Amino acid sequence: MDQFDVDLFVIGGGSGGVRAARIAAGHGAKVMLAEEYRLGGTCVIRGCVPKKLFVYAARFAHEFEDAAGFGWSVDNVRFDWATLVANKDKEIARLEGAYRANLNRAGVEIVAQRASIEGPHAVRLADGTQVTARTILIATGGRPNRGLDFPGCELGISSNEIFHLERFPDRIIIQGAGYIALEFASLLAGLGSKVTVIHRGDKLLRGFDEDIRARIVDEMAQNGVEFAFNVTIEGIYDEGSEKRVRLNDGRDLFADEVMLAIGRVPNTIGLGLDTVEVHLDEAGAIAVDGLSRTNIPSIYAVGDVTNRVNLTPVAIREGHAFADTVFGKRPWQVSYDNIPTAVFTEPEIGTVGLTEQDARAQGRRLDIYQTDFRPLKATLSGRTSRVFMKIVVDQANDRVLGVHLIGEGSGEMVQMAAIAMNVGATKADFDRTMALHPSSAEELVTLRSKHTTSDPLPEASTEATPAL
Ligand SMILES: Cc1cc2nc3c(=O)[nH]c(=O)nc-3n(C[C@H](O)[C@H](O)[C@H](O)COP(=O)(O)OP(=O)(O)OC[C@H]3O[C@@H](n4cnc5c(N)ncnc54)[C@H](O)[C@@H]3O)c2cc1C
Repeated sequence: MDQFDVDLFVIGGGSGGVRAARIAAGHGAKVMLAEEYRLGGTCVIRGCVPKKLFVYAARFAHEFEDAAGFGWSVDNVRFDWATLVANKDKEIARLEGAYRANLNRAGVEIVAQRASIEGPHAVRLADGTQVTARTILIATGGRPNRGLDFPGCELGISSNEIFHLERFPDRIIIQGAGYIALEFASLLAGLGSKVTVIHRGDKLLRGFDEDIRARIVDEMAQNGVEFAFNVTIEGIYDEGSEKRVRLNDGRDLFADEVMLAIGRVPNTIGLGLDTVEVHLDEAGAIAVDGLSRTNIPSIYAVGDVTNRVNLTPVAIREGHAFADTVFGKRPWQVSYDNIPTAVFTEPEIGTVGLTEQDARAQGRRLDIYQTDFRPLKATLSGRTSRVFMKIVVDQANDRVLGVHLIGEGSGEMVQMAAIAMNVGATKADFDRTMALHPSSAEELVTLRSKHTTSDPLPEASTEATPAL
């Protein structure tokens, strides 16, 4: 044991690294963790948490508007960006402190430095110190993809910078069609920005159910987001008080900020992976097996740097499974089935399980249940937004394979649906569950409208099913 300085060296103090370090220390391991920026990682510092705080801020705009129909007069409503940013920063600092305290309590030694790998059992810190470790865990996460190459691309900001803009962007252009692009589009529109989303394709949210992909465009448009499809940015030009964005169709758009949200890439650069020849996959992510093992027996990797499912709860669970397996004599693997996901657009998306297209691609015969309705609240608020719900059911055994929702509370609903699906719930189980009335969620247990397709489509359909 004493031949190494520590039992475990964790590189990266984000969701996966912190959980792994804490649990391994709890199993009696001597653990050191290096973090080059701030403890908590992407999720806490510049991801899920600050984003959700901004989402809450944006939703007040709707509440104020909707209030009139319920008899309220909400006059002189003003929004102050600086207050929101300052209060958010205070909460993030508090959370970072909580992460530090938890690691300290668990006995993990924290080094506030960049670390890189120097050998199968050796790590080099930025100050030159070498630390030897029986096991090394790489949990360095990902970073915004800056891989665009057009004049002025350096003038574009990423999600990292948007959390600290000194001036609220009254007009913003966002390039991208993934969940981060759309969430910021919605929340900035809610806060009062004129938002234009630029996408080189004609559909948003690749990988989501086609009905969700088709409907979210109209829903977001109703909430003030403009879209320009099948175009890309050719150049960004600083014109003093504003930025001019030249599109490849010849148009010029003007904005205060341009956000480039074209995906994220694994953080592997400068990590010293070549010194020990850790294998990467074709996307540049660290290749691991189900137990998060790399090809080097003493080196493991978890979280976004492995590009499996890039979500915080997944990174946390991978870190936990690694620590139990390697230091707790309790090997277990993370299940990637039925991972619930929310997209905090306005309105919100919640999804869990297989999309209709993926289920058909597996050759399954399906029953599709879906509904589209005006929520009760909208009757007095006057809002035109609709709720959409779809349940994908396997005809062979009545099992619920997927639930896909758009509407208020969708994220909260799919978290619960995921529990049911994990215990193998059938549509009949959903049906015999008593409804909670009045709610949107009750539609999930009262859906009778079946759209049956007897023959599986030969390939994924790209046409949205019309509303029933
Ligand atoms: C804008 C945004 C919104 C998001 N929203 C959600 C959401 O709503 N729900 C959700 O589940 N997920 C969300 N995510 C994804 C989520 O943040 C990530 O999946 C999660 O943080 C991954 O955890 P991780 O431990 O793999 O990496 P990270 O949390 O990225 O942590 C990696 C850490 O390693 C550090 N590091 C990197 N290299 C080194 C080095 N050489 N030495 C020392 N330290 C190093 C970094 O500074 C960082 O702190 C969001 C991401 C973004 C960007």
